[in-house]
This record gives sequence, C-alpha cells and structure tokens, in this order.
Amino acid sequence: MKYGVDDKGYYGEFGGAFIPEMLYPNVEELRQNYLKIIESEDFQKEFRHLLKDYAGRPSPLYFAKRLSEQYNTNIYLKREDLNHTGAHKINNTVGQILLAQRLDKKRIIAETGAGQHGVATATVCALMGLECIVYMGEVDIKRQAPNVDKMKLLGAEVRPATCGSKTLKDATNEAIRDWINNPVDTHYIIGSVVGPHPYPDMVARFQSVISEEMKLQLKEKIGNENPDYILACVGGGSNAIGAFYHYLENEAVKLIAVEAAGKGIDSGYSAATTVLGKPGIIHGSNTLLMQTDDGQIIEPHSISAGLDYPGIGPVHAHLMKTGRAQFVSITDDEAVHSAIRLSRLEGIIPALESAHALAYLDKLNAKEDENVVVNLSGRGDKDMEILIEELRNWDN
Ligand SMILES: *Cc1c(COP(=O)(O)O)cnc(C)c1O
Repeated sequence: MKYGVDDKGYYGEFGGAFIPEMLYPNVEELRQNYLKIIESEDFQKEFRHLLKDYAGRPSPLYFAKRLSEQYNTNIYLKREDLNHTGAHKINNTVGQILLAQRLDKKRIIAETGAGQHGVATATVCALMGLECIVYMGEVDIKRQAPNVDKMKLLGAEVRPATCGSKTLKDATNEAIRDWINNPVDTHYIIGSVVGPHPYPDMVARFQSVISEEMKLQLKEKIGNENPDYILACVGGGSNAIGAFYHYLENEAVKLIAVEAAGKGIDSGYSAATTVLGKPGIIHGSNTLLMQTDDGQIIEPHSISAGLDYPGIGPVHAHLMKTGRAQFVSITDDEAVHSAIRLSRLEGIIPALESAHALAYLDKLNAKEDENVVVNLSGRGDKDMEILIEELRNWDN
C-alpha cells in the first residue's frame, strides 16, 4: 500500500506517535490489539450489523440531476448526511466503541469542538451503556449550546476546559490528562484521522465503508466502479479519507480535498492548513499544522465549525506531498452560497463543511461525460442560524 500506514505508524515522513511517556502504555495497548480486533469475524459481524440497522447504512449514492445540469456534467452525492446523528462521524464512533468493549474498557472520554463528535460519542455510549465524559472548551460550550444539551440528554457528562483559549486544543489537552490518570479502564475516542498512531489508521479503516459502498453503487448505476473525480472537505480528514480509501491505489480516479479558506488565505482568518501550515507535532502526530515561527499553534478560522482545525491528519499531509490528492480551498462566502444553491436545486440542506466540497464544482470544469462524486459529509440543521442570516442578503 503506497499510501497506507507503515508498521511504524508513518505515511511517508508524516505520522508516528509523539506522546508523553505516561501515555505510552495506553497507546501501545491499542497499537498491539487494534488490527487483530478489527479484522476478527466477531467484530466485523457486529460492526456491519450496527452500521446497517443503527446508523442506517448503506448511505444512498444520489444522482443530482438539476445540479448536474447546472454544471453540464454528472454529479453524484454520497449521502452521509442521512446517517443517524446526521454525519459520517457515527461510522467511527460505532467502530471505536466496539473496540473499547473488546479491550474491556468501562469508561469513554472524548474531546469535541463544535460538539458533533461529542454527540456521536455520547450516542454510542448510551447504546452500549458505558460512562461518557466529553471535554469541551468553555467558549465552545457557550457557542454550541444545542449540542451540549444533546450530549446531556444522552447521559454524557460535559466537562469544560477552562485553560488557554478555552477551545478545541484545550479540550484535547484535558482529555489527554484524563487518559494519563486512567490508563486501565478508559478508552479515548478521537473523532478524526488525527492523533498518535494507530488512531489515524484505525479511524480511516472505520470510515472506509464510504468508498467501499461507493464502488458498488457506481458499478450498479453507471457500470463502472470508478468515477473521474471524488470531492470531499477536510477538517482533520476523516470523511475525505473514507471517500478516497478504496481508490487510493487507482491513480485514474482524481481525488480532491477541499480545505476551508475562511475569510481568505491571507486574511489571518483561515483554516487552509496545506497552504499555511508547516511540518510540526500536533496531538501526538507529525503532520502539517498552522503555527507561529516558534511553534505555537495559530487559532484557525472557518465558518464551519468542523473545518476549524489547525492541522490535518498525517495521511493527508502525505497525499498532498506525493501529489496523489489535489488540495484546494474555498472561502466562507463561497461555501454559504453553495449550501443555499444545493438547498434550492435539490431540496437538500447540506452542512457548511460539506458545502465547501460542493462549492469546488464551480472551479472543477468537469466534462459532459465525466462522473463526479461529492461526499456530502453531513446535514445542515446545525448551521441554520448562519444560513438564515446569509439568506437575508441573498434574496434581497
Ligand atoms: C466533523 C465534520 C467534518 C470534518 O471532519 P473530518 O474529520 O475532516 O471529516 C466534516 N463534515 C461534517 C458534517 C462534520 O461534522
């Protein structure tokens, strides 16, 4: 596997496990066991069952007729927005909760920024009857009240991170501190293809169901399992790698990863990590991240909370470096416009994250006989406040 992880946890020069010594036993237990467990028949049987009957998979691959006419090409939407809890994140949390059970863990911790991963984690903890503690920056708790309420309703405890900027990176620090103090009975569910090895590989395997289904669905619809392009947005990169995974070795399929440019690449309010970032260590992994000259993390900005992350998963740093995937970026305004456009053309209100991938259709120039898949990572209910605000200007 040219683009897969090697046995030391690296994707080319990126990845690895840069962790404090006190975390070593926890991560090592996971590393030694994850493949054995995930590949076991018993695990696969329960994972497949829950993805089908609980999460609602396979998610449809929808031929978007009116959108296709607009761009004079063939556009298919992979409908991750139709999953239980409204996004692709449930694929990963179902996988990790089953793994945690098999490692005999009784307590689950997670960190969350916008709250989407927190809700997906609280959901599977309720499903399995496991204790759930979600760390969240104090600022984010105020900004994302509806998701905090959902986590509480699902029985999780939301613990505020009160240090630093009181946002995602501070919540991550609190979660790591908790894990160090509870090495035996606790599993830490990370929400994207980030963190120390084996997390990026593990999460990618759980999300790879997206491209596995895509192949079968394209074969059925167009008689060919390979599209010309796959577009996906990238925060940490889990929905994108899920959509790319089974196509990585097939270089005829062009992979396009869309980052958030925020208010513009050079505006100081951006999350376009592959343009603005430099190699460095974040969350235990060597990857690209936005940092100052002395290595402090720069606060990113995006209108979509899920793309508001200062790094990218090491696999994506490698896909960029090797040129296997093309990295592009879309501004807040472009994303909002494409969200409104999809709502009115197809009757689908997308998450603002997913709208970044959609907006790139404007620049793609796909040909009439080509097939394009856009991974619609989530639904837009959570973004209604922003969309309604923008709509005032749009209709006037
Ligand atoms: C969290 C989220 C993302 C970003 O996370 P990735 O790991 O990059 O996929 C994208 N879309 C939606 C709907 C999300 O909730």
